[in-house]
Amino acid sequence: MTTSIATKSVPFHVPSIGEEAIRAVTETLESGWITTGPKTRSFEEAFARFIGVRHALAVSSCTAALHLSLDAARLSEGDEVLVPTLTFAATGEVVTYFKAKPVLVDVDPIHFNLSAEDAKRKITPKTKVIMPVHFGGHPCRMDSILDLAATRGLTVIEDAAHAIPAKFRGQNIGTLSPMTAFSFYATKTLTTGEGGMVTTNDDALANRVSLMRLHGMSRDAWKRYTAEGTWRYELTEAGYKYNLTDPQAALGLVQLSHCEEMWRRRVKIAQKYDGLASLCCPRGAFRASHPSRPGD
Ligand SMILES: *Cc1c(COP(=O)(O)O)cnc(C)c1O
Repeated sequence: MTTSIATKSVPFHVPSIGEEAIRAVTETLESGWITTGPKTRSFEEAFARFIGVRHALAVSSCTAALHLSLDAARLSEGDEVLVPTLTFAATGEVVTYFKAKPVLVDVDPIHFNLSAEDAKRKITPKTKVIMPVHFGGHPCRMDSILDLAATRGLTVIEDAAHAIPAKFRGQNIGTLSPMTAFSFYATKTLTTGEGGMVTTNDDALANRVSLMRLHGMSRDAWKRYTAEGTWRYELTEAGYKYNLTDPQAALGLVQLSHCEEMWRRRVKIAQKYDGLASLCCPRGAFRASHPSRPGD
């Protein structure tokens, strides 16, 4: 057998999906619930408990989570949103959905996270939202960002696509700002193939996200096929089709139960990279290892 180049390079992603996950997804498929249902509800509850937040709202991607968060923050045409220069396209792209303007803020040279000092310089009377990204899972200096937002009346929406599990000064990412968006894309630290989550402690924001993620249907609409629900529902807004499905949630529940252990494994690998980097560039500023251990 010949070895292809693909097997020699770093692969795009290697998901940790074992027997337990395969069984959980198979059982869900056999249950007949293949769209949003009881598994999605369980995943939301488990996620909220893990993070220590009042509401966790499952959606189809982090891009959807960011879009819905901006909608809940009532972003409108002509507003400005502060986003870091170094991030994935989705962070800025969702701002343009509203005909609003993504304003680029420089990142710091050590952790590559949005600089609060540069953010301050970029604020104008039109600035409404600041979207810090915890790049590579390194938490941003949330104290400076939250202070700045409070004094200048901005809403903070965290792009935590890389940041589960991560803590800033002992507090879980997902609990600090009005809204935080997580990604469960194939390459992320916890995956459902495709998926995302919005976390918030604010009931009104949670209600808005919950309404808009499924066509703007009145809240209990997804339960309309169960004994609890009713066939009657109302479309109160033109919403989106951003719901997560039960087979994805079944995978998410298993992944979540291994989240800390997968994090420890990544730390070991990062330390190996750091060791090798120090051989070739002993005074290099970059460190791969994660500074924020759960429990710090
Ligand atoms: C991956 C990623 C997203 C988008 O996540 P999806 O779940 O694929 O929509 C957003 N922001 C950052 C920083 C990302 O890396």
